[in-house]
Amino acid sequence: MTATANLPKRKFDVVIVGAGGSGMRASLQLARAGLKVGVLSKVFPTRSHTVAAQGGVSASLGNMSEDNWHYHFYDTIKGSDWLGDQDAIEFMCREAPKVVYELEHFGMPFDRNPDGTIYQRPFGGHTANYGEKPVQRACAAADRTGHAMLHTLYQQNVEARTTFFVEWMALDLIRDASGDVLGVTALEMETGDTYILEAKTTLLATGGAGRIFAASTNAFINTGDGLGMAARAGIPLQDMEFWQFHPTGVAGAGVLLTEGCRGEGAILLNSNGERFMERYAPTLKDLAPRDFVSRCMDQEIKEGRGCGPNKDYVMLKLSHLGAETIHKRLPSVYEIGVNFANVDITKEDIPVVPTIHYQMGGIPTNIHGQVVTPDGNGGQAVVNGLYAVGECACVSVHGANRLGTNSLLDLLVFGRAAGNHIVANLDRKAEHKPLPKDAADKTLARLARLDASTDGEYAQDVANDLRATMQQHAGVFRTQASMDEGVKKINAMRERVAKITLKDKSKVFNTARIEALEVDNLIEAAQATMTSAAARHECRGAHTVNDYERGADDAEFPLGRNDKEWMKHTLWHSADNSLTYKPVNLKPLTVESVPPKVRTF
Ligand SMILES: Cc1cc2nc3c(=O)[nH]c(=O)nc-3n(C[C@H](O)[C@H](O)[C@H](O)COP(=O)(O)OP(=O)(O)OC[C@H]3O[C@@H](n4cnc5c(N)ncnc54)[C@H](O)[C@@H]3O)c2cc1C
Repeated sequence: MTATANLPKRKFDVVIVGAGGSGMRASLQLARAGLKVGVLSKVFPTRSHTVAAQGGVSASLGNMSEDNWHYHFYDTIKGSDWLGDQDAIEFMCREAPKVVYELEHFGMPFDRNPDGTIYQRPFGGHTANYGEKPVQRACAAADRTGHAMLHTLYQQNVEARTTFFVEWMALDLIRDASGDVLGVTALEMETGDTYILEAKTTLLATGGAGRIFAASTNAFINTGDGLGMAARAGIPLQDMEFWQFHPTGVAGAGVLLTEGCRGEGAILLNSNGERFMERYAPTLKDLAPRDFVSRCMDQEIKEGRGCGPNKDYVMLKLSHLGAETIHKRLPSVYEIGVNFANVDITKEDIPVVPTIHYQMGGIPTNIHGQVVTPDGNGGQAVVNGLYAVGECACVSVHGANRLGTNSLLDLLVFGRAAGNHIVANLDRKAEHKPLPKDAADKTLARLARLDASTDGEYAQDVANDLRATMQQHAGVFRTQASMDEGVKKINAMRERVAKITLKDKSKVFNTARIEALEVDNLIEAAQATMTSAAARHECRGAHTVNDYERGADDAEFPLGRNDKEWMKHTLWHSADNSLTYKPVNLKPLTVESVPPKVRTF
């Protein structure tokens, strides 16, 4: 008997890896339709990173200022620096009001206006009348929107009888010879036992890989496991060079202060006490998109107008909002100020720096959430049995830069859409396809290697070096030389990852083993990022390279963007660390395309 045959097996219609907002929005759709759904999570579902989302979820409800989905559509395309696919963006912005009202009806405790409608605050890059002025589009529950949303979705899933596998780590996808995905291998952390979870459809909803960087607003569990699983199974990763820096991470701590602060009226100041964003973005000021604000902050610091003894941060001022507004609208931000910066934000300014926050790239999908790969004839083919949604997926609605509050929306819209597509297409009566004999061999080889390891480096040390390297060579401002060097360093790390040693070989709740297995995923996300970044010879959205910077008035390449050569999506292939490209879809579903133009605010 092979080792695979010896493993315990469980069968489901659908297995979902990830119990964040996207995974639980999809599972709800499936469980309610009567399908047998198993949802895996490394942590208790309501501890997924979605719980940390503060600022809001976007939808053009127009409760507090005039708005419609066309404006939202335009803002998202402009925000994406024309790398977003306009069909997917139209779909998301049109669906937004529906999914937010649906969430309200599930019991989501949104803040309310005096007339009972959902409270909405302004957010970066969201405008009325195509860029004329900021609009109030972010639907919020104080500064705990993700918390409220995740708990609401969890409660609904409990009612719908979704099966949760809590503290289970999915390890690898199972693909047969025809390329169909038949489920996953997974480790039960409590016992250390490995299982095969068979599924007619598998959905990856594992969130972002923000932990490939040293300073990040992300939870420690955000190690890009879905990306690693896809990459090892021969599926390319899309647009991984695009990483969002959030302008307001607490300096030195990395903890996020939501853009909702600036939505409520907070402002950024340099060492002269100047509100410098007025100079860079006369219309949107502090509420310009994140890539733009982060670059301006960095510029101020570079030109010597940073604050503090090392002049390496700027200040966020909230005190003028008044203690009452701060305690009502931004209670968590107040607590973060006290706990992480020893600052009372109702009285003093708080030091902030751009901090890694969000991955725009991920596993390529279509608008139904189906994973797609190049078909060999210049087109894209669906991978049978595999879907991906949420931050681990790239559909692509965020392109080269995501607008704040568009991620929670992405989770709801595409989690729901994937759920609906699976319900419509899954054959309930069909048997599961037979598993290949070697279904779990790769996983078992990874585990066996760790168990046999006697010397080598610890996972933690390799991971820390990887994070430091990524921070140094793929930061806010990039140079070609530094990225090229980063590529070499990360390539060389592959060997170190392959030789990681596990000292404690015990089975029960062995977190050292989990960490070692996570590094296999970190390296995929890191190498995808470094290789894709070094190859993109232009500035676009979050990818700013000194060597290619130009002014807004440069006729051919305004702001360094080179549409002729680079308006295309990157696909990184793990097997040979190579790149291919595919066109951006500039054609929306029903409306006219928004043609590329210079991005000023
Ligand atoms: C501090 C912070 C604030 C934010 N604020 C906002 C905001 O206000 N508005 C907004 O739109 N966006 C915001 N974002 C972004 C947004 O919250 C995230 O992009 C989004 O929540 C990701 O959701 P997800 O469902 O894709 O994944 P997550 O919520 O990250 O969940 C991932 C799930 O996958 C599971 N998982 C991962 N790997 C495995 C594995 N190998 N096996 C089993 N399970 C696994 C995890 O346990 C978890 O359940 C914020 C992000 C951060 C970090």
